[in-house]
Amino acid sequence: MKKTLLLLFLAFLALTACKQSTHNSGKTTGKYTLVIHGGAGSIDKNTLPDSIAQQYRVKLQQVLDSGTYILKNGGKALDAVTKCITMMENSPLFNAGKGAVFNADGVNEMDASIMDGSNLMAGAVANVHSIKNPILAARAVMEHTPHVLLITKGAEDFARKQGLEMVDPSYFFTESRWKSYLRVKAKMEPGEKHGTVGCVALDMHGNLAAGTSTGGMTYKMPGRVGDSPIIGAGTYADNASCAVSCTGHGEYFIRNVVAYDIGALMKYNQLSLKEAANYVILDKLKKQKAEGGIIAVDKFGNFALTFNTSGMFRGYATSEGFSGVSMFKDHQE
Ligand code: ASP
Repeated sequence: MKKTLLLLFLAFLALTACKQSTHNSGKTTGKYTLVIHGGAGSIDKNTLPDSIAQQYRVKLQQVLDSGTYILKNGGKALDAVTKCITMMENSPLFNAGKGAVFNADGVNEMDASIMDGSNLMAGAVANVHSIKNPILAARAVMEHTPHVLLITKGAEDFARKQGLEMVDPSYFFTESRWKSYLRVKAKMEPGEKHGTVGCVALDMHGNLAAGTSTGGMTYKMPGRVGDSPIIGAGTYADNASCAVSCTGHGEYFIRNVVAYDIGALMKYNQLSLKEAANYVILDKLKKQKAEGGIIAVDKFGNFALTFNTSGMFRGYATSEGFSGVSMFKDHQE
């Protein structure tokens, strides 16, 4: 009898310990932050028609709501980032996926990358033209290959084998991007038009993730790859510091390793997220006349939307109930 009671008691103790450990591993902070961007550039109140600005506002809000839904329900930062970027890729408003710009040959060549701050795993694709959602291919590279970056035909073949949706390159044709291609070609417009989409998130499990997707720059040289699919340049995430997604003149972002630099300034120089972002974008890049911006979130949920252009399509939402979408330089969050 005594033996049975002792066994029962031991079983009870084991069960309690087991419950306790399940509880601990499933522990959440209850805190999340989501930030999105739809590209930085000459986005001006005086030149952007109200009706178009309204379309951007509505789409940014929809994207933000979908990502927030995932995070609010305990979903992963990586899933929120993937969802938000896929939605922006499917919209003709942004220079990524459906709305990608044309290169000098009149072809769409797209780049994308994603990074998981919890384990420093990353995936990217570059110079693809028939994968409907390049960000899904980037995630598949991260999750189903031992590699980080696949390009051109290799990336396309891999995406097809993964069962991702493939489209005829004509899917990416949009009238507005074609017109701007023709304007740049005829030199009626100085410089290259750009844009990009990106998302960074902190989830309730304390994990950070970042992703970026782009059509690059209008009239870029065929084969040119920008910063967006380069881990450390256009995208970086590390639970120890922050998650960053960039937009702007890619060559400068590569040369300055912008996304990694912001995290490194926090990690090694003990700068706050805001201090690091301000230094890199508003001081270092500005001195080089490099245009662009970043979105970032740190492990505490602090976030930054920093740009040195006239505007950046952007939005943010936090578990504390702060949220907003904006595009002009009226105020910097
Ligand atoms: N960074 C992108 C690139 O250089 C373009 C952009 O974000 O505007 O390809």
